[in-house]
Amino acid sequence: MSDNARIVTCPHCGRKNRVPSAAAGKPRCAQCRQWLPWIVDARDDSFADVAEKSSVPVLVDLWATWCGPCRTVSPALEQLARERAGRLKLVKVDVDAAPALSQRFAVRAVPTLLLLRNGRVLARQSGAAPLPALRTWVDDTLN
Ligand SMILES: [Zn+2]
Repeated sequence: MSDNARIVTCPHCGRKNRVPSAAAGKPRCAQCRQWLPWIVDARDDSFADVAEKSSVPVLVDLWATWCGPCRTVSPALEQLARERAGRLKLVKVDVDAAPALSQRFAVRAVPTLLLLRNGRVLARQSGAAPLPALRTWVDDTLN
């Protein structure tokens, strides 16, 4: 079920694009054909389509509305998704709205970050980290 879509403004040409939360390919700007950042939300019922069947590696951000460090790390994760447009998808999961995923991934602290490729967890870490550390973690895991 690919429910919601977001309107994403192309960072290259400014065109507004409709970007689905799940798709077979990767989102590209309809005007300039550059890859678009792919930042979506998922819950228990959409995680399989949105994250596990993704054609690109997925950074999962398991976060909570009441969590201060989650708010700190969120802009860094979105920056990573912009830098790696076409190569990384950011999937944000509100743990309070996704009890099955919280249990499945044994989330004991938020934020918990997972790196997935083809539905398999390659790496995980808990707690906020600065952008350079996150960048290194993602690159070392996926390369
Ligand atoms: Zn564009």
